[in-house]
Amino acid sequence: MRFTFHDIKEFERKYSNYYPVDRCSCGSLKEMDISQAVFEIGDKQISVYECPVLVCKGCGKKQVGHRVISLIYSTYWDFENHLGDKSCNLNSPLFTLGDEVGRFLF
Ligand SMILES: [Zn+2]
Repeated sequence: MRFTFHDIKEFERKYSNYYPVDRCSCGSLKEMDISQAVFEIGDKQISVYECPVLVCKGCGKKQVGHRVISLIYSTYWDFENHLGDKSCNLNSPLFTLGDEVGRFLF
């Protein structure tokens, strides 16, 4: 999955009230899965390996969890401490959330 944003403002707008629910708009239930997600925000790129996603069992629509969104958001601002870096890979936020291990590995 790839998500592209013109800048961090667009990202903030999209996710300011983001609370994925268990039931999809098509009426089916969603279940947890693991996928790879890439977020492009301006000239920065954040790849998330083993990203927890909600997949609808009916229509197959995928959504990332809101914990991933807050992780992406804080990672975006971490770039300020890594001037010159444009991309970063995050590993398994489901299991290492709040842990610095896996952040800014190249
Ligand atoms: Zn659905």
